[in-house]
Amino acid sequence: MHSINVHNTLTGKKEPFVPLNGNKVMMYACGPTVYDMSHLGHARMTMVYDVVQRYLRFSGYDVTYVRNITDVDDKIINRAKALGKTPEQVAREYTYTFWHDMHCLNVQPPDYEPKATEFIELMIQFTKELIEKGHAYESAGDVYFDVASFKEYGKLGKKSLEDLLVGARDQVRSQEDLADKKKSPADFALWKSAKEGELAWSSPWGQGRPGWHLECSTMTKHVLGETFDIHAGGEDLVFPHHENEIAQSEALHGKPMSKYWLHNSFVQVNSEKMSKSEGNFSTIQELLAKFSPDTIRLFALQTHYRNPIEFSIEALTASRTALGRILRAAAFAVNSQNGKSFETTGQALLEQTKNQISKATAESLDPVKDETTKQFRAAFIEAMDNDFNTAVAISQLFALADKVFVEKDEAKRQGYATVLVQFARLLGLTLVDTRKQIDSHTVEQIVNLVVELRQNARSNKDYATSDLIRQRLTDAGVSLMDTAGQTTWEKA
Ligand SMILES: [Zn+2]
Repeated sequence: MHSINVHNTLTGKKEPFVPLNGNKVMMYACGPTVYDMSHLGHARMTMVYDVVQRYLRFSGYDVTYVRNITDVDDKIINRAKALGKTPEQVAREYTYTFWHDMHCLNVQPPDYEPKATEFIELMIQFTKELIEKGHAYESAGDVYFDVASFKEYGKLGKKSLEDLLVGARDQVRSQEDLADKKKSPADFALWKSAKEGELAWSSPWGQGRPGWHLECSTMTKHVLGETFDIHAGGEDLVFPHHENEIAQSEALHGKPMSKYWLHNSFVQVNSEKMSKSEGNFSTIQELLAKFSPDTIRLFALQTHYRNPIEFSIEALTASRTALGRILRAAAFAVNSQNGKSFETTGQALLEQTKNQISKATAESLDPVKDETTKQFRAAFIEAMDNDFNTAVAISQLFALADKVFVEKDEAKRQGYATVLVQFARLLGLTLVDTRKQIDSHTVEQIVNLVVELRQNARSNKDYATSDLIRQRLTDAGVSLMDTAGQTTWEKA
């Protein structure tokens, strides 16, 4: 069996994946800061690492997947002020919308989902220990990490001091802070003093709140341990967020924070990163109003996670058409356990997507076991073993779908379709067939059209047709009212 190879940002190379502790994989992905609706850029990140954890489990690893919620942050505080709410209300509301979005997109919940506010005491402890070790200093109610005290600073992003100083501008609250409070502009806040009336916790340095980077260092330490296997996030987190996490954790523990660092690329619009600040984003709910969850997932996974995706409605529409091929092929599948068609709704679906196949059982669950499915499995697994190359793996799904369409032998065709379903679900595709599901807006347009056709029939004195239409609409639960030459309708 091939081993999995992963691109490690820390070494800049693709390396064989060997966990620290036998079969166990400890994995952490930086989760959302909950202050607004999630957009496709966020969804890409969560879907990418959802597939990574699914594939690691498929490969036989005992995975502990942790994705945090950042529920205290300047962005949340500012948003709360703008909305006239408390930061706690804003964080709670957007935590729920995030969960809802993830559920819609069939992103499996992580094993643990720590919230920053549940770890404040431990963050204060972490900061105290860094001060004791000479890696941090207090300054007028703030505490800063002393970057000069950590010789390996910059090793993740391979940054020069000049880059660091440019990046550092984002890390200070204002230019006065830069001059007055810090020893070096590159130093970053572990603890920020609160202004009067702001969200704050008591600390040895007065009322304040933790810095964002400290949150992840503390939560990973207490949920996964001082060293773990995979730390993942969007590529914009390499610097400063992950660089600073490394500085804090490794300065305190004297050992590597994570063995592998995985970073996914952006979703772009006209070659610009999709982001809140650019205002060029589509929220997940906006996209779900037009496209099925599987279409969005297929669109996101058709590009390797380290390459940028150029977003457009046309590109999503092309993914929808492509998904149609997979759905048509999957319709031939038969559930080997009960001989019936694959369930695509409700609890049964949930069970099936949860109990995915494994590398070890994939062959035994294959109902055909011929050269076609053997080659398919090998090519799919080879692609995924190669740094989770979903783009190539999906091209194999399409190739298998083509075999389904041309196969004359009914048993083989069912078998190919069944294998297709098993592997598509490994990528988190639900294969819920939404092609015949019509939303209320479309229904309204159709009823309006029928009413118009009935008006035409009446104008032509074709009362037989007009009465037939009225009767059929009544049977379908729609009543018509003719008043003063106008026809209106309502649900019966
Ligand atoms: Zn983080």
